[in-house]
Amino acid sequence: MIEMHDIWKTYPDGTVALQDINVVIDRNEFVYVVGPSGAGKSTFMKLIYREEVPTKGQLSVNGFNIGKLKHRKIPYVRRNIGVIFQDYRLLPKLSIYENVAFAMEVIEAPRRSIKRRTMEVLDLVGLKHKAQSLPAQLSGGEQQRVAIARAIVNNPAVIVADEPTGNLDPETSWGIMKLLEEINFRGTTIVMATHNREIVNSLRKRVIAIERGTIVRDQQRGDYGYDI
Ligand code: ADP
Ligand code: ADP
Repeated sequence: MIEMHDIWKTYPDGTVALQDINVVIDRNEFVYVVGPSGAGKSTFMKLIYREEVPTKGQLSVNGFNIGKLKHRKIPYVRRNIGVIFQDYRLLPKLSIYENVAFAMEVIEAPRRSIKRRTMEVLDLVGLKHKAQSLPAQLSGGEQQRVAIARAIVNNPAVIVADEPTGNLDPETSWGIMKLLEEINFRGTTIVMATHNREIVNSLRKRVIAIERGTIVRDQQRGDYGYDI
């Protein structure tokens, strides 16, 4: 599903964020990406959803060679990847319904399917009754559930989640994890960067640890491995 071969990422100011990354993530895996701040986790995630392009090496996601992608092909890749951020990033002036439907409008999904599918995913995350609310009227956990609904509405092959529980209290975080596990169970590959030690050590999955731009550990059913 995701293959990186000899991937390097150097930012324009000369910062080497990733060096010599080699990794294969299979269809339907659930992977945690851990490591200290500044290690390169976000950069790793950004390469997958093509927010950044590798300086060197080969990267493919769902069969697309991301590094060499023609500009007109980018939307096809993006629809196959759902992204979830720590700070939700909902559009504040749009209703919950519109926030989710917008993701389908962008890829020019048929009008009739937009309404049906949007309500279906809002139901899945337990927020059908909030469809007409604005993001500011929802709690943090609810806003993250909307972000998850938006991420899955186009049935992506991969979900990339960058610290999805970073702003949430422990109880709410468990709810978010249950939802991500459910989505993974239904067949979506999930790559999740996290500092949440309790979650990584309780819901055991593959752990990729990145330090100073390199993968220092890659363990099935791994643990968090840091004290903080
Ligand atoms: P993490 O997510 O693990 O905190 P990042 O991937 O954000 O790490 O950052 C890795 C390194 O790259 C850090 O040294 C960071 O300062 C640097 N970096 C991140 N984004 C940029 C950028 N746009 N320009 C220059 N340096 C960056
Ligand atoms: P949390 O304990 O996660 O911070 P909140 O106390 O913010 O949750 O919200 C609890 C409930 O109240 C949620 O169902 C949320 O949607 C609702 N709520 C919070 N703020 C508003 C608001 N300004 N208008 C309408 N409903 C709200």
